[in-house]
Amino acid sequence: MRPRGSEDTAVRRAGALECLRDARLRPFWLDSPEAPAARPPLNGEERCDLAVVGGGFSGLWAALLAKERDPGRDVVLLEAVTAGWAASGRNGGFCMATLTHGLSNGVDRFPREQQRLEQLGLANLDAIEAVVAGHGIDCDWQRTGEINVATEPWQAEALREEYELLCRFGRDVRLLDRDEIRAEVHSPTYLAALWEVDGCAMADPARLAWGLRRVCLEKGVRLYEGTPVTGLETEGAAVALVAPGGRVLTRHAVLATNAFRPLLRRARPYIVPVYDYALMTEPLTAGQREAIGWDTRMGLADASNQFHYYRTTEDGRLLWGGYDAVYHYGNRVHPALDARPETFEKLARQFFVTFPQLEGVRFSHAWGGAIDTCSRFFAFWGAALRGRVVYVLGYTGMGVAESRFGAEVCLDLLSGHDTELTRLELVHSRPVPFPPEPLRSAAIQLTRRSLAKADERGGHRDLWLRTLDRFGLGFDS
Ligand SMILES: Cc1cc2nc3c(=O)[nH]c(=O)nc-3n(C[C@H](O)[C@H](O)[C@H](O)COP(=O)(O)OP(=O)(O)OC[C@H]3O[C@@H](n4cnc5c(N)ncnc54)[C@H](O)[C@@H]3O)c2cc1C
Repeated sequence: MRPRGSEDTAVRRAGALECLRDARLRPFWLDSPEAPAARPPLNGEERCDLAVVGGGFSGLWAALLAKERDPGRDVVLLEAVTAGWAASGRNGGFCMATLTHGLSNGVDRFPREQQRLEQLGLANLDAIEAVVAGHGIDCDWQRTGEINVATEPWQAEALREEYELLCRFGRDVRLLDRDEIRAEVHSPTYLAALWEVDGCAMADPARLAWGLRRVCLEKGVRLYEGTPVTGLETEGAAVALVAPGGRVLTRHAVLATNAFRPLLRRARPYIVPVYDYALMTEPLTAGQREAIGWDTRMGLADASNQFHYYRTTEDGRLLWGGYDAVYHYGNRVHPALDARPETFEKLARQFFVTFPQLEGVRFSHAWGGAIDTCSRFFAFWGAALRGRVVYVLGYTGMGVAESRFGAEVCLDLLSGHDTELTRLELVHSRPVPFPPEPLRSAAIQLTRRSLAKADERGGHRDLWLRTLDRFGLGFDS
């Protein structure tokens, strides 16, 4: 006889804890012998044409694209730890074409521009694919698309509306009914699904970052790792970037520091670091694979407000992440926050609700990382020191592919030329800033609670969420 109620919960909890017992508390992708040896830190004074701060995808793309545009340009890349160690090397590896965190978010904000933004997003994904292929970056790149699944009737309705919108924009999408999606991936929780065929590739993010790092070095980018930039000032016609071991004098700078404290004070009110967490299973056995189907490599996500994203890996594991989005008072970012046992346990329990046939599967890795959340949920740009310094921030958990576009825009802004990209409303508009603490923390926690309630109540958005929606601030996955 099966236990019921609290007894059932206790059994599930014990099972989840047991499956997590041997999990290494570090990102699966970075826990690899392929990780390159770190380059030495900056020591002394350097001069260059362009300095890039931050060696995640945004900074790596900025350095690489700058060299592609002008191979003679002298480019220095300064990274506080090692290139790719932060969000870029620890994410889900969903490389999404969207530049606006989904089509409906873009249509609401830029109705006149959205058709072009869709084209630019797809072209951006193609351009990443071309670099991966052209430079032999072995990152398990798979142009599979992404499937959003509905596990509640209101989500199925929302997916149908999204499908109709995507069709109006000429996108390659398919709506799957309950039987079709369950035939594809065997979960008893699925009611319907939306497969965006053209809008997403899957990749191993750390190997993508290390590949871009390698190409940067081959093109002559001077990379200094273990080099946190602590200050930024003008010195005559140059910009001086100050680090503990020395400084760099440069004509131009790109700041690509994501969820970490922005060097420019003026950028600080616009982003908050929000922690996202993920688990990785051991490689599944042939029997376990058969029990869930999922012979293709496409990524999946569910359509609730607090959603899970999940995917397979080259060596037959399952990554399972998302749901909790945790903000720490005062914009705190710290390595100690990368592990959150209560979230790992919750994720493990939810994993076995989706795939009960995998009961007993163990998790090899559990980790978290900070996301640079802004109130419009996609990147924004800014400039300082009379246009000699530009920054890109705010990808809000969808920057794997958009970071290349973000870097391209940074270089256009630095060029001083009027280009198609610099003319976009997407580029010259900004998100609404967050209020200062303690209001900031209170508003974020209230939003989290309201989103959880909406998921429990058939998607019904309360007064707080409806007010945010009215001002274009309400998150809707
Ligand atoms: C768990 C998790 C899952 C995610 N899943 C996805 C996903 O599936 N798809 C998707 O599109 N996005 C996802 N994201 C978001 C995505 O990873 C990011 O949007 C993207 O990697 C941002 O790249 P970046 O270069 O801007 O930032 P980062 O990779 O964070 O790089 C910023 C770099 O700047 C350096 N830095 C900061 N300050 C300084 C300084 N003062 N001096 C020198 N260096 C500095 C840091 O050390 C860091 O290396 C996820 C994020 C997380 C955390």
